[in-house]
Amino acid sequence: MVEELEKIKEYAKVNHIPIMQEDGIEFLIKLIKENKIKNILEIGTAIAYSTIKMALVDPSIKITTIERDEERYLEASKNIKKLDLEKQITIIFNDASEVNLQQKYDLIFIDAAKAQNKRFFLKFKDNLKKDGYITTDNINFHGLTKKNLEEIESKNLRGLIRKINDYINFLKENKEYTTTFYEVGDGIAISKRNE
Ligand code: SAH
Ligand code: MG
Repeated sequence: MVEELEKIKEYAKVNHIPIMQEDGIEFLIKLIKENKIKNILEIGTAIAYSTIKMALVDPSIKITTIERDEERYLEASKNIKKLDLEKQITIIFNDASEVNLQQKYDLIFIDAAKAQNKRFFLKFKDNLKKDGYITTDNINFHGLTKKNLEEIESKNLRGLIRKINDYINFLKENKEYTTTFYEVGDGIAISKRNE
């Protein structure tokens, strides 16, 4: 099992797939354990690294995860099968903006296209249980969200960073949810609905 996980990490490295950093995923795992989280929705499967790590916390955990890229979806399916986690993990091969779910989850993990964070937060918040959590990865985006925008040369990247900053402000100003930002991994936000 450890060996399989190492292989997945190696594949991610070779193919430049941005899977969660070690301390980031450990942080999420702690949240899952402490709150006895059982039902998880993940937006952005990639090759199923984070999904597999979360599923391995406990066999009673069920995860639905969404991926739009076919090659990654196929690789993710293969990895889940290899680790014998098909009963725990369901992958939906589609663009998350096209996916409508009825179920409610204890944890919604947003880790897809960073410019769409707000869109996914608003789209899926109705799928969150009353005392559930919405977590968002890559809040720091390699430290770039803390930089002066003028310092970023690429126009596209500047646009992306602006969008992530807008999302950070959206979370900070949100009256319905309280968000805490953690300096772990590439920056993780945890949002909880107010009582
Ligand atoms: N959670 C993974 C990493 C995800 S990387 C891990 O830590 O192991 C982000 C993934 O989101 C990419 O594979 C990308 O194809 C996918 N993605 C981006 N936008 C998406 C969208 N709108 N719908 C579904 N998947 C999306
Ligand atoms: Mg990420």
